[in-house]
Amino acid sequence: MPSALETMVKILKLEREQGGKNSAVVGGLGAYAAGWQSDAREQARRAQHHILIDELVDALAEYESIPDLDERIARLSYLLDRITNRAPAPQAYRDKLPEWEAKLEAQGGSRSRRGGAPAPPRPQSERRSARAGRGNSRKNFQTYDSANWDEDFTGGPNRQRLDIPEMPALNRPPRTTRPARALDEQLSEYQELAEPTTAVKGIGKKFSELLQQLDLHTVRDLLFSFPRDYRDYTALKCIRDLEQDETATVIATVQRFSVVGGKDLILVVGDGTGKLSVRFFQGRFLTARLRAGMLIMLYGKARYFRDMVQMVNPEWEELDLENLSKIGIVPIYRLTKGLRARHLRRTMKALVEHWAERIPDPIPTSVLERNDLADLGWAIRQTHFPAGWDHLGHARRRLRFDKLLMLQLALLGNRREWQEAPGPQLACDDAGLKTFMEAAFPFELTQAQQRVFADICRDVAQPIPMNRLLQGDVGSGKTAVIILALAIALGNGKQATLMAPTGILAEQHYRSVSAAFEEQDEPYKPVIALLTSALSTSERESVYRGIADGSIDIVIGTHALIQQGVGFQDLALAVIDEQQRFGVDQRAALRGKGQNPHLLVTTATPFPRTLALTVYADLDLSTIDEKPPGRQSILTKIIDPVAQERLNGFVIAQLEQGRQAFFVHPLVEASETIETASAIEAYDRLRQVFFRFRVCLLHGRMSPAEKDELMSAFARKEYDVMVTTAIAEVGVDMPEASVIVIDGANRFGLAQLHQFRGRVGRGAHQSYCFLIPDSTESIDIDRIRAYQNEELDADALSASERRLAAMEESDDGFVLAERDLALRGAGELLGRRQSGLNLWQILGSLSPDFIEMAQREARTLYEEDPDLSLPEHQLLARYIAQVYADSGDIS
Ligand code: ADP
Ligand code: MG
Repeated sequence: MPSALETMVKILKLEREQGGKNSAVVGGLGAYAAGWQSDAREQARRAQHHILIDELVDALAEYESIPDLDERIARLSYLLDRITNRAPAPQAYRDKLPEWEAKLEAQGGSRSRRGGAPAPPRPQSERRSARAGRGNSRKNFQTYDSANWDEDFTGGPNRQRLDIPEMPALNRPPRTTRPARALDEQLSEYQELAEPTTAVKGIGKKFSELLQQLDLHTVRDLLFSFPRDYRDYTALKCIRDLEQDETATVIATVQRFSVVGGKDLILVVGDGTGKLSVRFFQGRFLTARLRAGMLIMLYGKARYFRDMVQMVNPEWEELDLENLSKIGIVPIYRLTKGLRARHLRRTMKALVEHWAERIPDPIPTSVLERNDLADLGWAIRQTHFPAGWDHLGHARRRLRFDKLLMLQLALLGNRREWQEAPGPQLACDDAGLKTFMEAAFPFELTQAQQRVFADICRDVAQPIPMNRLLQGDVGSGKTAVIILALAIALGNGKQATLMAPTGILAEQHYRSVSAAFEEQDEPYKPVIALLTSALSTSERESVYRGIADGSIDIVIGTHALIQQGVGFQDLALAVIDEQQRFGVDQRAALRGKGQNPHLLVTTATPFPRTLALTVYADLDLSTIDEKPPGRQSILTKIIDPVAQERLNGFVIAQLEQGRQAFFVHPLVEASETIETASAIEAYDRLRQVFFRFRVCLLHGRMSPAEKDELMSAFARKEYDVMVTTAIAEVGVDMPEASVIVIDGANRFGLAQLHQFRGRVGRGAHQSYCFLIPDSTESIDIDRIRAYQNEELDADALSASERRLAAMEESDDGFVLAERDLALRGAGELLGRRQSGLNLWQILGSLSPDFIEMAQREARTLYEEDPDLSLPEHQLLARYIAQVYADSGDIS
């Protein structure tokens, strides 16, 4: 263990090397020395060199005020000489010796029994005059009154400012031309990345086992396991400047620590501006890692407790001179028990330095140049050990580009692969379908529906299986298109199936499909079956048989369709409605029920085009961007909670006309129990308000069967009002529902609000949506109105206010989706529903421009070399194979 003096020697030497810029330690030498002295003195008591310590502290306290750097260097040399050679102390210090000894005697040699005689005044320095212009900066250092120990450490005003150089603003340095390396060499280096972590210098068996706990197995895993966070040492705080509840980083010296109550650890640290008390719950074991005088970094939330600044369970680690002298941004890695931050960081540093120069870059330089993207090695180095925030930004941009590009290429490659096996070629009998359409629907198809239908006809006529996403806002008429697609399969004498996320939705589809085929002539006279979990075992068995022997032409159902036992005789088309509610594997499972059937999936969650193209790169996209004619827009209004009374009056008037209403208290909390409780409360309240009507409650803890049953009852108009937490379950037409009231509307994203609203306005009646903000944040409706009257800029509104305003202004899902993208960034918009792919991570905070750029590059590459067989794409192909391996279920 280095003594306090040894540490000081190192620091002084470093400072001298750095030219006396007062940069060797964070906060400057003066502040450091002030904190350092307590430990030094403790050690000095034994080693009898406290005079030296006093002198050092004094000399360093005024160090920063010496204007001339040469003089500073001279001073450093003198001090080093004093410590290492023990040159005789100046007379002034020697005079104080007896007094100081006496004081120590009086304290019984223990610092814990503080108080007693005033300490000797410190000698006036001859430099004193030089500081005169800076006021009373040293006032608090006049005495060594140990009763005022804390004040001793609070320093003067000059201590407040941490003298840390600003991080230089840097851009990506110009690209160094890549050494032209043979492909073989690059590939073999790529191969090396797959070696186990033990191949890395400094990683032994034990270390590698710890890394395995973090799911890090190979060199590549390590290189690409980026810090979860960074600490900006340039944004350090002095203890004295910490504010209540502020989360900050401080660097301080351990003064003392003790175990209290047998298990918690209390630690006192100081940084020359003040002292901080730290409590580690269950931290007894930390005593082995701490020692007095140790310099540590703490990151945590500051609290004032009885005039003392406190942190509870902060993150911490030891600092060393290496860290200190390299003021900058320090990576914080995920750790596991037994793995020390410093150790890991050192290992990563060496590893990253080694690989940054060698890692083979899979992206052609021309692509990087075109889009101002950094080299891979540079990006890896800067992501682990950023030289500045803008470097980090640039590095991340490159890494995100890679992810996006590789994901796109993986999806495109995937589609190519499964489309290589031929699918059933279906003919579209235009005349026959026209007759079918006339009999099936009481309306004409909209332009958009016709266009989408034409897309489908074109697809299925090919011997390549269709893989198409049909996107359309709620109520845009996707069902009619689905029915037409089913009719094509039927016209070709083949089977078709339609899968929906809930039983009630499946039933509704069963009814509308049956109705559409009711009055038809051959060949459009199918046997249609419904397959849900509500069927009895024998009913189910008979459906299975019909599907297998081909006597059933169309089967409509839920997840029950992808159970074992279901096997089609000749499935030509599989449709998945509301596909965002299904996982990728389920999509694949349904497809697997036939031999390369055509696949049509629909979604009502409107995606901005850029995003849709990314997430569904393996699907062709058709969009219904037009609503059926005569559809009334849903009047949407933000309502102040105080106006609830009037709102209830309005709802009653609607109910009296035979309409139905939803009151939504949607799931926001992590806990369904809490949500359910609040819904039950609302239910009780609303039952009072609407006592003349039939009110029901549907909540998330009900079983799917119970929910289905209640929804059907509501659809049969056995209830007038539904209070619910689980409105997303309601995907069905309730033509009499004309009012939806959304409580706590400020807490929801636009897409969600729009989905909720889509539950009404499906019939002929004018419908209404009311948005009631709750008190979790202040929503100023006047401000929203001012914005809408163009008296106020959008910037003046909070994000929630803007969302609510957008809801009032538009009921077009695509308009809202674009707005949402602008408002929130792609990551959140996607939500967590895209099971399998961590897309929200990949796409988080990316701008549409960036996403489009990556798409463009992916498609260019794909068109040029679809199976990435050109030599210059060999590496890329391998990296992509890794994307598969890492995310497992891209499909
Ligand atoms: P979604 O796209 O949400 O699945 P649906 O297919 O359920 O929408 O259609 C919503 C309503 O619009 C249905 O009642 C349907 O009969 C009606 N509809 C669909 N297409 C048209 C059209 N072209 N003209 C008039 N009404 C239509
Ligand atoms: Mg639908």
